[in-house]
Amino acid sequence: MTDNPIKVGGVETFSTVDFPEKISAVVFMQGCPWRCPFCHNAILQDTAADSGFIWEKFIEFLKTRRKVLDGVVFSGGEPLVQDGLENAILEVKSLGFAIGLHTGGYRPAHLQKILPLLDWVGFDIKAPLNAEHYTKAIGIQAASQLPKIKESLDILLKSSVDFECRTTCDPRILSIDDIKNIGDTLSSLGVKKYFLQKYRPIESDTTTTDSDCEQFFLNSNLIDGLRSQFPVFDIRK
Ligand code: SF4
Repeated sequence: MTDNPIKVGGVETFSTVDFPEKISAVVFMQGCPWRCPFCHNAILQDTAADSGFIWEKFIEFLKTRRKVLDGVVFSGGEPLVQDGLENAILEVKSLGFAIGLHTGGYRPAHLQKILPLLDWVGFDIKAPLNAEHYTKAIGIQAASQLPKIKESLDILLKSSVDFECRTTCDPRILSIDDIKNIGDTLSSLGVKKYFLQKYRPIESDTTTTDSDCEQFFLNSNLIDGLRSQFPVFDIRK
């Protein structure tokens, strides 16, 4: 791959949890414009960092895994940042793998362009879709980001590509009412699959307790409401 080479921070060579109903490898793309306080991949945020990862070697590895893996997920970081994503996907797809994408919807035009190549998208909804909440969730001023996020979600809703929305329930930035708000919004927009993910405190977070993190899932009013709003809803811990 010579045009627009991608920068990769690392890979997970075998995963059963990152691509629904598929055994996959996960490509962690380097670079993210956001600074979510719950980020477990902060090392991937710096767009300029160079991990020394050699893409061609990974492609050679994938050629030996055709009978083991069903798909490859491009994750991050934020994969849509990199212009080389399309070529990388084409290269992996030509080997016969299904393609998944994890994104927060940072570049809708890029998402639109690569959408025909995708088999599934995991779309992060980090907070209620307003500037005040989203600024807390992505760690930068969100007013200019929200239109892009909403446009990306709209692109997915209008497409035939399988996708889910998911929210990491960080009690430092989200309340139970916030999650209800997100559920109401997504349900009214026509989202069919929604998942809540348990926040696991990052290393620097020494005050959030497990019961703080569990409170969302123990609230039967919230959970029952979400189950009734979405054809597919579940909790990931
Ligand atoms: S979008 Fe993902 S990679 Fe970027 S800061 Fe947030 S959690 Fe980390």
